[in-house]
Amino acid sequence: MADAPIFKRLALVGIGLIGSSVARIAMQRGDLAAEVVATARTGKTLERVRELGIAHRVEADPARAVEGADCVMLCAPVGAYAEIAAAIAPHLAPDAVITDVGSTKQSVIRDVGPLVPEGVHFVPAHPIAGTEYSGPDSGFTTLFEGRWTLLTPPPGTDEAAVGKIAELWRRCGSLVETMEPGHHDRVLAVVSHLPHLIAFTICGTADDLGEESRQEVLQFAASGFRDFTRIAASDPTMWRDIFLDNRDAVLELLQRFSEDLTGLQRAIRRGDGETLHQWFTRTRAIRRSIIEAKQA
Ligand code: NAP
Repeated sequence: MADAPIFKRLALVGIGLIGSSVARIAMQRGDLAAEVVATARTGKTLERVRELGIAHRVEADPARAVEGADCVMLCAPVGAYAEIAAAIAPHLAPDAVITDVGSTKQSVIRDVGPLVPEGVHFVPAHPIAGTEYSGPDSGFTTLFEGRWTLLTPPPGTDEAAVGKIAELWRRCGSLVETMEPGHHDRVLAVVSHLPHLIAFTICGTADDLGEESRQEVLQFAASGFRDFTRIAASDPTMWRDIFLDNRDAVLELLQRFSEDLTGLQRAIRRGDGETLHQWFTRTRAIRRSIIEAKQA
């Protein structure tokens, strides 16, 4: 027998890659919430969500979308959270849980936390799963399978609310762990934010090359460059917000990265093959560990 739904009504504020994946799972399983309501910024997205049938109800006004919902999930770019939170806060139901999927967590707690009304429970979360695609067409039901979702509840958050959000993500196929928000932001700077920055840089550098070399970059892209182009195709708004919101952790890591890069640069200039070989041997082992952890 199917489990009872965790929530009566789930309101998704923003329904792109992440929101529409949650919506599809919720509609298919039926045990995340009995009813799924969606809102977005543009009429085009709302219309598309109606056509796709991935929510029971679509609302243009975020205030109306969250009314009576016992779970509200922010699935918009993190830079829009403060404005969204201000618009919906007066309309949140008492005892509702407000959660999110944003890629940075300290900024979300800073922007949304103070606006959460008394009696509403705030459980910030981040599913570490994604693709370079955006919008309601890009979501799919297996996106979170075997991937981690990190919960970063501020101290004193209602444990029952945290438990419900953890269960929601488990039912999405995710593994769940709780983490301190600052620690989350430092970890994500390493595993996600810096790699994206490097991809954005390399693709921009290649694009700045003269016409002839640029043609060759495209023609022979298969040798390594292709993987960078996939990462660099990610949504510009989302990534702008991530770097503005996780500035300190990214800058600190970038400093260390630059020092390491200079070290490798020096080894190449000096013909120091031993240093290069040792470094590459160590990094090769990282790939094996990721495969063993089933996160490849
Ligand atoms: P997306 O596909 O671009 O979708 C964003 C959604 O937010 C769209 O429905 C958009 O509506 C809506 N939106 C934008 N501004 C809004 C506003 N002011 N009010 C209401 N809705 C608004 O983005 P996504 O990739 O799903 O990312 C959403 C969140 O998930 C971000 O916070 C991101 O950090 C996080 N995240 C992303 C990934 C990833 O790989 N993509 C992974 C983990 C977490 P319109 O379509 O009408 O503009």
